[in-house]
Amino acid sequence: MLARCLPALLPPLAQEEALEVRQVLSVCGQHEAAATAAVRRPFRAPHHTITVPALVGGGRPVVPGEITRAQHGVLFLDELPEFPRRLLDLLRQPLEEGVIRLARANRSLAFPARFQLVAAMNSCPCGNLGLKRKPCKCTPGDVQRYRSKISGPILDRIDLRIEVGTPPADKVGVAAAPPHVSRLAQESRQLRRRIAAARGRQVDRYAGFEGVHCNAQATAELRRTLIGARREAIDFLRRAMTHWNLSVRAFDRALAVARTIADLEGTSDVDVQHVAEALQYRLLASSGEMGG
Ligand SMILES: [Zn+2]
Repeated sequence: MLARCLPALLPPLAQEEALEVRQVLSVCGQHEAAATAAVRRPFRAPHHTITVPALVGGGRPVVPGEITRAQHGVLFLDELPEFPRRLLDLLRQPLEEGVIRLARANRSLAFPARFQLVAAMNSCPCGNLGLKRKPCKCTPGDVQRYRSKISGPILDRIDLRIEVGTPPADKVGVAAAPPHVSRLAQESRQLRRRIAAARGRQVDRYAGFEGVHCNAQATAELRRTLIGARREAIDFLRRAMTHWNLSVRAFDRALAVARTIADLEGTSDVDVQHVAEALQYRLLASSGEMGG
C-alpha cells in the first residue's frame, strides 16, 4: 500500500518528464493514455515470474520492458528474494544510468529507464522473525540463504531500508471512520507540500544542468560540488565508511540521501545529523542483520 501511494505523493511531472512518459506509452501502443491531458507518474509492479524481455525490454520487434514503462515513476518488486538473481542483476545498469542498453545482432538500442525502485521482502522465509505474537520456524541457515538471494551489488543500490512491523490487530481490516479519513487526507496534503518544496529546492540547485531535476539524478561529482555539506558531516561520513567498510557508491548515495533529508527540512547545509539519519537507513539489513 505504501509503494502504491508513492507516485501520488511525488510532485507532478515536469513538462519534459511528461513528454517522455507519453513517448513510452505511445511506443507501447497505449495511444489513448499517451494523449490524455494529465499524464501521471507510472506505477509498475511485475510478478517475480516475469521474463527478461518483459522486465528490461526485448523481443521481436523490440518493445520496452517494465523498467521503461516505469519511467519517472515507481517500479515495485514485491517478495524481492523470489525474483531470480540474474533478473535483479540486470537492474544494476539502469539503476545507475537511468537507461537500459539492449544488444541486438548488429546494433545496440537504448530505452530510458529512470524509475524509483521500491522492493519488499519478509525478514525470513516464514515471515515471523522479529514478530512478538508468532514464533519463527526458520533455522539460521534458512534465514541466511533467504537473504543471500539478493546480491550485494543490488543491496548496495538500495538507499533506504526500513523495517515495517505488523499493525496492531485492532487496526487491521477496520474501515476508517470519516474523521480518521479526513485526518489522513490532511496529512497526505501536508506531506505532498513538503515533498514539493524539497523538490523545488533541488530543481533550483541543478538549474542549468540538463536532465537533472533532483539529487538522485545528479552525478556524484555534481552533487559533491553543489551539495553544501559541512566539513564535520563529511568527516563523520568518512569515519562511518571506514568503520562499516562502505563502498564509494554507498558514500555518495548516503550523501545524496542526507541532502534530501536536509531539503525536506528546508535546511541549506548538510550537517552531521542528516548524514547520521541517511546512514541509519542504509545500514539496516546490511551484513544480514535485518533488524529482527
Ligand atoms: Zn521464519
